[in-house]
Amino acid sequence: MSIATIGSHCALQVLKGAKDEGLKTVLVSEKKREKLYRRFNFIDEIILVDSFTEILDQRCTSALEKNDSVLIPHGTLIAQMNTKQIESIKTPVFGNKFILKWESDRTLKEKLMHEANLNVPKSIANPKDIKKLVIAKRHGAAGGKGYFLAINEEDYKKKRDVLISQGIIKGDGDLYLQEYIMGVLAYLQYFYSPLKEELEFFGVDKRHESDIEGLARIPASVQIENDSVPSFNVIGNSPMVLRESLLDEVYSMGERFVEAAKRLVSPGMNGPFCIEGVYDEDAKFSTFEFSARIVAGTNLYIDGSPYSTLLYNEPMSMGRRIAREVKTASENGQLDKITT
Ligand code: AMP
Repeated sequence: MSIATIGSHCALQVLKGAKDEGLKTVLVSEKKREKLYRRFNFIDEIILVDSFTEILDQRCTSALEKNDSVLIPHGTLIAQMNTKQIESIKTPVFGNKFILKWESDRTLKEKLMHEANLNVPKSIANPKDIKKLVIAKRHGAAGGKGYFLAINEEDYKKKRDVLISQGIIKGDGDLYLQEYIMGVLAYLQYFYSPLKEELEFFGVDKRHESDIEGLARIPASVQIENDSVPSFNVIGNSPMVLRESLLDEVYSMGERFVEAAKRLVSPGMNGPFCIEGVYDEDAKFSTFEFSARIVAGTNLYIDGSPYSTLLYNEPMSMGRRIAREVKTASENGQLDKITT
């Protein structure tokens, strides 16, 4: 039995966690990153590729099969491979590879969030209907690059045209408009165990996004003079804890999400996921996004988070939690319950 993943995003955390659980670790790495990953002695085997899509090729498939690997999907897999490619991976994928399409497709994404009865900011179908501040987002796991804010149609068109001239988007079809919610952003990290049929709240983080964050550090008079279009490109994460009175709702949002996923996309939301949104002035949470797999914000808690510490009497990262689920399933002949 081994745990495999591709070299980026949260690969170090995932493989360190697997090693802590006593499992063999395999990394599929681009040649240019080999030197980085060779620095870490918990990586047992590295399969070198020119591009991550080679994971579909016979050479990688056989190497992973020889190692009895379970592949852990993360943000880079989604960013670099399309749905069809992901669904055709022959190596057993941890969790539900079919739900990853629901993360990448804005229409499906909204459907699942509504099914889970989450409070989702309104989407705006036509730029003509922009009446309040909106955020324009690109489809897929773009990491916030090329997102922008607009206060009306004219403002929207001006900024859209800048992105078109920079070659970042082709036109309106590449953008999704959503009501902008002001407040405290929070990224809620969960793990659902199909073996225990139990939801664990694992942690919460903040994201640092460039250059929107930089904009807040300069005086308004300078901001007004600056007519570049700010972006929301994630650079890193920092830890956060929530008021304890918010935790009950955090659990029930996660549980509603798991139930909704069971109804809409079999076998459901197994393994790690993240509900992403904003607490407003009344501490009401609006969900603008979810990730149906491990998020990079879990890298913060390699030694456990304030919340995983409440559940486990040992350092438990999300990567290690995944490995433990794989180990337990393997010992009980239940691998089909945790992989697709
Ligand atoms: P996303 O790709 O949806 O995770 O969005 C990237 C970033 O844009 C988020 O991390 C937030 O900073 C911001 N954002 C996205 N949607 C909203 C929203 N509806 N209201 C406020 N900020 C948002």
